[in-house]
Amino acid sequence: MKKQFAVIGLGRFGGSICRELAEQGMEVLAMDLNEDKVNEFAQVATHAVMADSTDENTLKSLGIRNFDHVIVAIGDDIQSSILTTLMLVELGVPHITVKAQNDYHEKVLNKIGAHKVVHPERDMGIRIAHNVVSKNVLDY
Ligand code: ATP
Repeated sequence: MKKQFAVIGLGRFGGSICRELAEQGMEVLAMDLNEDKVNEFAQVATHAVMADSTDENTLKSLGIRNFDHVIVAIGDDIQSSILTTLMLVELGVPHITVKAQNDYHEKVLNKIGAHKVVHPERDMGIRIAHNVVSKNVLDY
C-alpha cells in the first residue's frame, strides 16, 4: 500500500516537499489556512484542504492519525507549530517532521515529542559549507 503523507503549511518549504512527494507518486494531503495556497496545490496533491491545524477536531475529522508521516511546515507562527505538533503526538501519528524557526523552537519541539526537527536554512548552510570545503580539498 502507498504511504500516506500530510503536509501542513504550504510555504516555500512545505510546498516544495508537497510537490516532490506528489512527483514521486505518493499520496499527499496538503493543508493550509490560506485559500490561495490551497488552490495552488489542488492540482498537485492528492487532496488539498483549507483548514487550521491547531483545531483538534479538524485533525481528527481528517483522520490524521492514519497518516504514516506528517510534515509540519508552519514557519512564523511558532505557537501554531508547537500546538499542531503536540496534537499530532497525542493522536499517535507515527512519524512527525517539523520545521523549526530557531533554536528555542527546536528545543520545545524535541521536548514535546516531534520525531525529527529540521532547520532548513541552518542545515543547508552546514551542507554547503561542508561541500565547498571538500571541493577545495579535492582541488589541491
Ligand atoms: P517558507 O517555507 O516560505 O519560508 P515560512 O517559514 O515563512 O515559509 P510561513 O509562511 O509562516 O512559513 O508559513 C507557511 C504556511 O503555513 C503559510 O502558507 C501559512 O498560511 C500556513 N499556516 C500557518 N499557520 C497555519 C495553521 N494553523 N494551519 C494551517 N496552515 C497554517
